[in-house]
Amino acid sequence: MSKSSLRDTGLKVGLEIHVQLNTKRKLFCHCPTESTSELNQTMFHRYLRPARSEVGEVDPAALLEWRRNRAYVYMAPSNSSCLVEADEEPPHPLDEESLMVALAVARALNMNIVDEIHVMRKIVIDGSNVSGFQRTSLIALNGYIEVEGRKIGVQTLCLEEDAARKIEEKELEVTYSLDRLGIPLVEIATAPDIDTPDLALKTALKIGQLVRLTGKAKRGLGSIRQDINVSIKNGAKIEIKGIQHLYLIPRVVEYEVMRQLKLLEIREELANRSIEPNQLKPDIVDITRLFQNSSSKIIRKALSNPEGAVLAVKLPGFKGLLGREIQPGRRFGTELSDYAKVWGGVGGIIHTDELPAYGITSDDVARIYSEIGAEPGRDAIVIVADLRYKGEKALLAVVERAKYAFKGVPEETRAANPDGTTRYMRPRPGAARMYPETDIPPIVVTTDLLAKAEKYVPEHPDLKYKKLVELHGLSSSLAQALLNDLRLDFYEYLAEKYGNSVPYTVIASILVNIIPALRREGLPVDEIGDEVLEDIVKALSEGIIVKEAIPDVLSYLVKNPGASVAKAVEDLGLKKPGISELDDLIVSVINANKDKLLSRSDKAFTIVMSEVMKTVRGKVDGKIVAERVKTKLREILNIT
Ligand SMILES: [Zn+2]
Repeated sequence: MSKSSLRDTGLKVGLEIHVQLNTKRKLFCHCPTESTSELNQTMFHRYLRPARSEVGEVDPAALLEWRRNRAYVYMAPSNSSCLVEADEEPPHPLDEESLMVALAVARALNMNIVDEIHVMRKIVIDGSNVSGFQRTSLIALNGYIEVEGRKIGVQTLCLEEDAARKIEEKELEVTYSLDRLGIPLVEIATAPDIDTPDLALKTALKIGQLVRLTGKAKRGLGSIRQDINVSIKNGAKIEIKGIQHLYLIPRVVEYEVMRQLKLLEIREELANRSIEPNQLKPDIVDITRLFQNSSSKIIRKALSNPEGAVLAVKLPGFKGLLGREIQPGRRFGTELSDYAKVWGGVGGIIHTDELPAYGITSDDVARIYSEIGAEPGRDAIVIVADLRYKGEKALLAVVERAKYAFKGVPEETRAANPDGTTRYMRPRPGAARMYPETDIPPIVVTTDLLAKAEKYVPEHPDLKYKKLVELHGLSSSLAQALLNDLRLDFYEYLAEKYGNSVPYTVIASILVNIIPALRREGLPVDEIGDEVLEDIVKALSEGIIVKEAIPDVLSYLVKNPGASVAKAVEDLGLKKPGISELDDLIVSVINANKDKLLSRSDKAFTIVMSEVMKTVRGKVDGKIVAERVKTKLREILNIT
């Protein structure tokens, strides 16, 4: 979609960025924030149920999880979890270091800091918190951040505890590790001031960078996580969770706009067809007997269980709509299927817009239509083959979702897929999910506390720019690009450590030129750890590789996770020839082209140079090659 057509949709995007802090201890206990792998772990089980909030309501998202009736298994490593994570001991006082960092970030985001901090419990019963709630506290309100000359509102900054790490998910049992539970997170929520996918990315990068510049953010995969809210005119505010990388944000936004527009088209089509929502009835029909001799594998598998059944429901007037694509590779039928999966726990649905298929013949389809009393030219039918009780729940959810098609876009929380499309996850949580944490007294934000926080406030970008240009000699464009790069703090670290032997421009260029170029080629460069990048810079400083070889070495390391720079050098044939080997090569090139070189002595240098570089590019610095070529031409042919 073009920028202007996106603007015409009334696109509004808000971000919620979570950054893990690298503090000495966890937020509410004295365990370290380093995840440590440990074989000796204790394990325990829990069931969770929703509690009523302060206003006496039960949260819809919490209710969904409870209905799933799952057991939660927790793995508790003794060196990174204690009785607090297991909810067997009250929380310790809030970690002061985390609070300092949160206050510093709030200052840098021009926010109003609260007078008194109250720790609250937010109901979360997907098992990711042993207690059934996450502790969170509002630190500051109403600030802004400048991105590309725009002022983007920052609504809230909260300090909260990270959830447990999901290890495995089965239908009735989810396993979590407690090493991550309780690691401090700052959560920054922007206003929905963002109106293009690109600005959403730039804002997310800027916020992530700002927290990192405190020097107290964790790095690496999963240390920054982002949720986004997307809405368009006449659509709905959709919350999207679990976006793998910051760089996926623009695509997720675009696909969500596409989805909402397509759902609005379906609404219009239903109106054109004069279909009314009250024509949709939750009348589930058992059509098992039609499939006694079916050759469909899906159906035979379902019916192999004595509780198995084939159930169907009619969607009057929906023919053709279920097959409509609403995101790349996803149809309106997929949206219905998501509801069936989440609410009924079934593997999926079959609908008549995709039949005949899956071993269901056109004769079968005709029989289904007649059994249900549906019109083949007008109605769609949704079928589920599974355990009867699951199939019933699934089809009721399908009817509810189909009814929503008359309104357009249902408000919901969606989960991002790795390709940038999204799937239904759960209803939007209500406001009724907070209640006070009674184990921790309120914390007064004193001037003393604010003064202590001052040392973490990141340097202003203008000062950074000046330093990069004047002290490091970076070009204005390179410095500007670095100021917009998430790894600005990492650049500063590398520059400090290797700046004596590797030019600053080369270090900067790895981050802002080479990595983005490889990303455009589709390589998963964002999964690469900073330690790998440091290894490359170290190899440069030790003369093991030359700067021309960086793109090849980096893409090798992306494709071969865990490999060393030395292995890359060997496998890519980048082993540096010694001076005598280089001389041998030059001499052989000169000897092979003697006549040509003598007759065109003005071009001799260029000819030999280009021939030799074909072999040694990426292995030897061009300056050294040029020097040796000149020497040899003079020695052998007396050409200067
Ligand atoms: Zn602990």
